[in-house]
Amino acid sequence: MEVSVQNFILYYKSCLFDIMEEAQENNIADWVSIIVELLGAKQAVYYTTQNVKNNQLYIEYTYAPNQQAEFHNCITSDIVNTIFIEQKLANREKLTQFPMLAEFNCGFEFNYNELKKGYLFLVADLEKVEELIESNLEAFTYESEKFLHIINKHYKIMSEEKKYKELFRVTEKFHSSMDVDIVLREIIHTLKRVFPHFQTVLMLSNDTNHDKNLPIKELQFDQENSPVMECFVTGDIKIEEHVSNNQTLLNAPLCGKQGVYGVLQVETFSSFIFQNNEVEFIRLLANTGGSALENAKLYEQSQRLIEDLQLINETSHRLNSSSRLDETLHFLKTQISKSFHTEQAGFVLLKEDEPIILEGSSGLHNTPGGKKCIEYMTENISLKKESILISDARTLFEDEALPYASIMAVPMLESDTLKGYCLIAHEFPYFFTFEMFKLFQSLIHHSTLAVTNSMLREELERMVITDHLTQLFAKSFLNNEVIQSMKKDEEGTFILLDIDNFKEVNDTYGHQIGDEILIQVAKIIQKNIRASDIGARWGGEELAIYLPNLPLNKGVQVANRLVKTVYENTNPKITVSCGVSYWNKQRKDELESLFHRADLGLYDAKELGKNQVVIKEEHQYIS
Ligand code: GH3
Ligand code: MG
Ligand code: MG
Repeated sequence: MEVSVQNFILYYKSCLFDIMEEAQENNIADWVSIIVELLGAKQAVYYTTQNVKNNQLYIEYTYAPNQQAEFHNCITSDIVNTIFIEQKLANREKLTQFPMLAEFNCGFEFNYNELKKGYLFLVADLEKVEELIESNLEAFTYESEKFLHIINKHYKIMSEEKKYKELFRVTEKFHSSMDVDIVLREIIHTLKRVFPHFQTVLMLSNDTNHDKNLPIKELQFDQENSPVMECFVTGDIKIEEHVSNNQTLLNAPLCGKQGVYGVLQVETFSSFIFQNNEVEFIRLLANTGGSALENAKLYEQSQRLIEDLQLINETSHRLNSSSRLDETLHFLKTQISKSFHTEQAGFVLLKEDEPIILEGSSGLHNTPGGKKCIEYMTENISLKKESILISDARTLFEDEALPYASIMAVPMLESDTLKGYCLIAHEFPYFFTFEMFKLFQSLIHHSTLAVTNSMLREELERMVITDHLTQLFAKSFLNNEVIQSMKKDEEGTFILLDIDNFKEVNDTYGHQIGDEILIQVAKIIQKNIRASDIGARWGGEELAIYLPNLPLNKGVQVANRLVKTVYENTNPKITVSCGVSYWNKQRKDELESLFHRADLGLYDAKELGKNQVVIKEEHQYIS
């Protein structure tokens, strides 16, 4: 647009009014654009004296639409002071003396106030500049400075207002959130909004599970004397300048009430001076963020504690309501895999310091390394009765590679007596945290009573149905089993076995050797029958064997084999006699009759000279 000399100032003023009316952040850009238009300029750069060290000027705005221009950020106050001695306009001749300004043909100096100055350099249409000089230079400078003064004041107020609005907004957000990730994201986004040109990094002391898209690093504790560590330890803001990387870093501590959680690092170019109000804003943001982080962490912690308590409560409750050892261990294993994310659990009972791996344990102990590990744990736990947490067990044994790296073991103590221990493992090193260790201890402490109770109960049950001397079943148990079998099975064979001339054995060798003979015979019986068969002590030196679902001829084979084996394998050598009876579904039979027939068979065997088997079938007599 062509503007006549007379209208120049009027037009210029009206443009400035328009800008002020809108009063936005890029006022300077709009203002330079007006001058560029009025003076027909192709290029422009605007420097101000603020925020920069060493008298360096700050480039506030550049204009170069048609070419790749390079603007120098090393212009100093000294240079401009030489250019603009007692005048506010510099011409081409003046500018060519300074290589970094040589490309410009015109320059202006503007005073905002006593502290701040601005310098505009242009590649302008010199005819238009000439017109301006001739007619209105003074008015132009006056209006420009008035405008810059107001805009500057306005901008300061606005940016303060914006900062505090942001602070208010972010505080509100912090209050409504208990999520660590949200807090961290808000700290970073708020800084980005207030200082779009700064880079921000959060350095946290112990945080591994944050959102991976956020600029978060782990705090390096080994760099003892770094400003970051100084800031973290003292809780004060530390500013560091690295001229070589053209970097100025401001470190602000993320302080809560209970401690410092990390450092907020703001990066800008070297020689930038942070203004007091900027530092104050960052400090406030870091403090609010630190408190919010603390709250969120405490909340997370309390949530975890609640979950842990729920787990222990549920486990104790369930364990107390079930008394079978296999059920108890199975349930414990389920709880462990749920809470500790591992299937590898071992329950080890200690009997005279010897480890007995309970059924329900995972296969961990079956590996060569696992065996070593159980030995190691048994030794240590027996000695100190304390829990053990190993974060990297891969090199624990030089000669044996362990398939697990993380191991926790907790003793099962009852009234200070060591009953055994529970051990869990994971293939990854450092898998179990200290919190998990504490929880595991709690869980085992609360489960020990239930586990030992069910072990005791099972032991008692076994004792009731077991004969103490021979470890065969008691007669009552055999009775019961035969009754059940007669109901559900098709057939069965019963053998009554009596040691021959046992009185003599006792008389010759003494009662103790007699007892040992009884034990030897019992062992021979155990060895020669299946798991589903029942060997029992019938009374005195009489033993009985019930073979469910076994036909008579097979049962007789078993009896004959026993007679033979006893003779061959006892020391001192003894013999036995057997009476055999049999039942099946085809004919009516009674328990008492079955026993009675075997008794009759035994009697006959004794009569016939002992060391033999006699079968007593109903209505017939077979020998
Ligand atoms: P037979 O060949 O006719 O069976 O003669 P026996 O001597 O074995 O029979 P008898 O019934 O006369 O004697 C049984 C003996 O078994 C008497 C008793 O002292 C002995 N006895 C019974 N129970 C036990 C036991 O638990 N331990 C020992 N050592 N001896 C026992
Ligand atoms: Mg007898
Ligand atoms: Mg006898």
